[in-house]
Amino acid sequence: MSYQHQYVDGTRIHFPVGKVVCIGRNYAEHAKELDNPVPTEPLLFIKPGSCVVALEDDGFTIPTERGSVHYEAEIAVLIGKPLSTRPSREEVLDAISGFAPALDLTLRDKQAELKAKGLPWEIAKSFDGAAVLAPFVVGSTFADLADIGIRLTINGEVRQDGNSRDMLNPIVPMIQYMAGCFSLQAGDVILTGTPVGVGPLNVGDELVLELPGVSSFNSSVR
Ligand code: ZN
Repeated sequence: MSYQHQYVDGTRIHFPVGKVVCIGRNYAEHAKELDNPVPTEPLLFIKPGSCVVALEDDGFTIPTERGSVHYEAEIAVLIGKPLSTRPSREEVLDAISGFAPALDLTLRDKQAELKAKGLPWEIAKSFDGAAVLAPFVVGSTFADLADIGIRLTINGEVRQDGNSRDMLNPIVPMIQYMAGCFSLQAGDVILTGTPVGVGPLNVGDELVLELPGVSSFNSSVR
């Protein structure tokens, strides 16, 4: 079945599946673990809507024949209204339709090869299935966007346990910056960066992906 945005209660969200705007190295500890410098301005990249799949109970597939596939657990923000040219803080807050835990999947060997040559990352970041989105909770769920947790447990072991308070670019200024670079539209998704602890996925891995205390999903790698 093709992907459609939805809320945790199963309600379908009737926005098109737009682009997925991502930020790299948004947590200092994660930048360090991959030996990357902490950027002086936000490092953005885009995954097309064709990447997006739902985080289902019965699992998702990874392209095992293309080298190491890394998980990056991230807080996803669903955009519900158009934003462009430096929107105000209030406009950004008003445009947020939901939050979900997500996986930004990355062909890490391929990305390393592209990075070393100074080439764009799309081949490593934009394959079909490279953005795995859980259902959203409504945008008003969090009173404080600087205190949203994100946790990934694999085979019973917590691998990533982050919080938006540690973001180098907090959610609202990040979205203001993104909207100044290119228009955001209803149905676009923001992936807000991954905390420390990334690593490879393997077929058979059992995952629990959560916004702790708010939403929690079980899945596996098929
Ligand atoms: Zn990422």
